Amino acid sequence: MTKNYFATGIISKSTNFGEADSIFHLITKEYGLVKAVAKSVRKPKSKLKGHLQTLNHVNAYLRKGKNLDLITQVESINSFNSIKKNLTFIAQACYMTELTESVLSEDQPSPELFDLLVSSLKFLETPKNGILLIHCFEFQLLALSGFKLMFLECVNCQKEISENSHVFSPVQGGVICPNCKKTENTKLISLNIMTLKILRNMDRENFSLLLKISPPKNIIRELSRIFDESIKELLGIKLNSQSFYQTIVKH
Ligand SMILES: [Zn+2]
Repeated sequence: MTKNYFATGIISKSTNFGEADSIFHLITKEYGLVKAVAKSVRKPKSKLKGHLQTLNHVNAYLRKGKNLDLITQVESINSFNSIKKNLTFIAQACYMTELTESVLSEDQPSPELFDLLVSSLKFLETPKNGILLIHCFEFQLLALSGFKLMFLECVNCQKEISENSHVFSPVQGGVICPNCKKTENTKLISLNIMTLKILRNMDRENFSLLLKISPPKNIIRELSRIFDESIKELLGIKLNSQSFYQTIVKH
C-alpha cells in the first residue's frame, strides 16, 4: 500500500476521538477492514462530515499513518436514505455490516464479501425486499468464510438426503441423514419440511426465488435458530445487533 491510497467502502462504525476527531471503520473492497481517523470531523464546518455517516457507501482517499490512517477526502456514492428512514431496515443493515466486519481482517480484502454486503443493502432498499434477505445474506457470508452449509447431502456421509430427514447440526454445518443421526453426538435441530425446502433452495442458490416468498412466523423462527446457532458455532460470534434486529422484526 502506498502512502496515499484510495478505497471504496461502507462505513460500519464511528467513535469520537479527541476534541473533534472521529475514528471510522470502513469495510473496503480493496483492503478489507480499514480503521481511519477524520480530523475535525465533528466541527460544524467540516467538509467530510456529511459523507462520513454510518452505512454510507463512499469513495475515500486516505493517507497511511503510524498508528491510524487518515481520511483526507471522501465522497458518497450511496447514502442508503430509504434504509435510514425505517428502524427495522436500520437494524437489519447494522446487523449485516457488523457481521461482515466480524469476519474481515485489516489488510485482508474480500471483494466478494464487499459485493455481497453492497448488493444486500441495495436489496433492502427495494420495496419488494423479502423477509428471507437476512438469511440468504448469512448463508452466503458463511460460504465465503469457508463454511458452506449443506442441505442437499448429509454433511457426514455426503449421501443425498430425502425430504424425510429433518435434522440439522450447527456444529457440523449441515443436515444429517437418519443413519448418521444414530451416532451423531452434537446438538441437533429438528426441521419443519417447509424450513428444509427453503434451506435446500439456498443450497441450490435460488436466491431470487427465495426473496419472493414470505413464510409463516414459525418457519421464520426455525430459520433464525438455524443461522444463529451456525454463526455461533462456526464463526464463534454472537452479535448485539442480531438480538436487536430480531426484537424489532418480531414486533
Ligand atoms: Zn449420513
